[in-house]
Amino acid sequence: MATAILSEVMVPASKSLAGKVALITGASRGIGRAIALELANRGATVAVNCRTSVIRAGEVRDEIVHFGGASEVFLSDVSDRFGARNLIQEVFGVYERIDVLVNNAGITRDRSIRKMTDGDWLDVIDTNLNSAFYCTSAALPFMIERSFGRIVNVASFVGQAGNFGQANYAASKGGLIAFTKVLALELAKYNITANVIAPGFTATDMTDHIPPDVMEQIKQRIPMHRLATPEEIAKAAAFLICDGDYITGQQINVNGGIYM
Ligand code: NAP
Repeated sequence: MATAILSEVMVPASKSLAGKVALITGASRGIGRAIALELANRGATVAVNCRTSVIRAGEVRDEIVHFGGASEVFLSDVSDRFGARNLIQEVFGVYERIDVLVNNAGITRDRSIRKMTDGDWLDVIDTNLNSAFYCTSAALPFMIERSFGRIVNVASFVGQAGNFGQANYAASKGGLIAFTKVLALELAKYNITANVIAPGFTATDMTDHIPPDVMEQIKQRIPMHRLATPEEIAKAAAFLICDGDYITGQQINVNGGIYM
């Protein structure tokens, strides 16, 4: 017993995820990529998921391996219930455990509500919200089996505040926040925590297409007058996963003050 306590204490904080397996959906680029690298840096074996960007996902895996970590790419469309559930089975098949699940995959299909099509609505709800249900429900038995799980859902300040032209996106992220609270309630007894990271505008491909004049207006709205970096979002996710043993059902807003 004394040895076990000693060895726990001696694990450097930076490698506190040694022996753990983390699956990050949508980890080929942007925020998911940064979370994958951050968790690998803290010792986790990282399952890098994406839908199509296999080369970029391979680069994330290679970077992790280059720095002495372990990682594989798992190609799957998590908006599809079979794709999502197969993904979980595949990751478990390779590593025989899933300790950390980061539901990060997300898309936008922005249009005012008067112009929004059923397709715009369904694509976003399927990708941003339904995927989290499919992946989480499939991964839960493996977490319960080990009495340990850390679930982080990547929402957005838009799910808290709303945003013009983003009815589908706001609904998906608001749904994700509510979903997380129920997970926290139902899973606490298994030592599984569930929390939300709610980023503000972050410099990724998702915001890259915003015209420069609109971007200037956005920056003026943000008290810190700049976008977040993906690494700043990843640090908050890693905090919840590594140091958030008694934190569940919460939202961490990493948004430069745009929503308080
Ligand atoms: P991004 O750069 O566009 O990357 C999106 C990632 O999601 C990619 O890896 C993409 O894979 C993956 N993905 C999309 N649909 C998928 C699907 N059906 N199955 C599997 N993977 C899928 O986006 P990001 O800015 O990093 O956003 C990451 C998360 O943060 C999203 O949930 C987003 O809503 C949220 N967020 C972003 C911002 C922001 O300003 N950027 C702000 C708040 C919240 P492929 O490369 O294969 O397409």
